[in-house]
Order: sequence, then structure tokens, then C-alpha cells
Amino acid sequence: MSKIIGLTGGIGSGKTTVANHFHDNYHIDIVDADIVAREVVEPGSEGLAAIANQFGDSVLNEDGTLNRTHLRELVFSNPSNKQWIDNLLHPMIRQRMQQQLKMATSPYCLLVIPLMVENGLQSMAERVLVVDVSPDTQIKRTLARDGVSKQQVQSILKAQATREQRLAIADDIINNDIENGHLAEKIAELHRKYLALCH
Ligand code: ATP
Repeated sequence: MSKIIGLTGGIGSGKTTVANHFHDNYHIDIVDADIVAREVVEPGSEGLAAIANQFGDSVLNEDGTLNRTHLRELVFSNPSNKQWIDNLLHPMIRQRMQQQLKMATSPYCLLVIPLMVENGLQSMAERVLVVDVSPDTQIKRTLARDGVSKQQVQSILKAQATREQRLAIADDIINNDIENGHLAEKIAELHRKYLALCH
């Protein structure tokens, strides 16, 4: 089994940018918690069936996919709904990530978990790489990418772990504050380091 390097960072920090670079340039396999979280509620999945059974068919769109807006309302209106959904989906997400990690064939693989600190998932990885940026950079890049309001981004930032909490679990850090900066060099250096750790 490949060595597992966990990759995390706050909203808009550059996790996807970094993971894509490892994949495109070094053919490193990626397991992405956000993708897995969507897979476990795909039409026909056990997860979606359980949610529809609990909350009724109003959580489904006409095409049978999950109505995320409705689900978000259920979660915001009642914390016990969030607890119920987390209790259902978190074990499914974890198990599916583990299955995908087992299938990795590159010398090491990246396990991308945006909410690694928040959900205490750092133990799934042998090392943790944190993509670190200032809150100002996070806000600026998320605004440019998503076209949301500054208040919305700030409230997401507030709900996430702090920069310090993420850095506290880091074995390696990529600072990504510089516009179109030195990512390629830094990633090349980390790639060499991770390969060396695999031997
Ligand atoms: P999220 O958790 O919100 O999905 P993320 O951590 O995966 O975000 P990315 O989507 O990789 O972050 O990056 C956020 C935005 O910032 C993207 O539009 C990306 O192109 C841009 N970006 C990333 N790194 C840099 C950089 N060094 N210079 C300029 N723009 C960057």
C-alpha cells in the first residue's frame, strides 16, 4: 500500500491547485474527501436512501439527486439533523476513502481532506502537508473564484479551524501567499522528500 500523505488547508488556500500539481507532474494518486462525500450520496447509494427515508422525498430533486439546498436548510434549522447526517455519512466517507487509498499505485498518495482538523482525521495519514495562506489571501481568492459575498467567506472562515490549529498538525508546510509564486519548486522538493521516505 502507498504511503499516505494527508493534505489540508482552509477554504481557498490552494489545496486543489497543489494536489493537481502532484498528480499532473508526478502521477501521484489523489483521494479527495470532497469527491468521496459526493459519491456516498449519489443516486442509488445507501447513503441517499437512508437520508430520503429519514427526511422524506422532499430532500430529493426530481431527477433523484440530493437536493442540497433543502438538506442545508434542515441542517441549519436543527443541529440534531446535522448530527444525524454526520453519524450516517462520516463512517461511509471514511470507509470509502480507505478503499480508494488501498487501490493507490503511486509510491505515495495524497489524501485531501479540507476539514481534517475539524473532524480529527489526521490519524488517517502518515504525514500531514498543510497549504498555508493568510486569511486575507483566503478571502481574496475565494471571492475571485466563487463570486460570493465577503461576509459569506468570512463566516465560513470563522466556522473552520484557525490557521494556527492547522499548522499545529503539520509535518510539512507549503506557504501559498505569493501570487503565482514558487509552488512548482516547493512541490518538487516535497516530492523528492516523500519519495525518499518511501524507501
Ligand atoms: P476550497 O477548499 O475552497 O475548494 P482550495 O484550497 O482547493 O479551495 P484552490 O481552489 O486550489 O483552493 O485555490 C483557490 C483559488 O486561488 C483558485 O481560483 C486558484 O486558482 C487560486 N490560486 C491558488 N494558488 C494560487 C497562487 N499561488 N496564486 C494565485 N492564485 C492562486
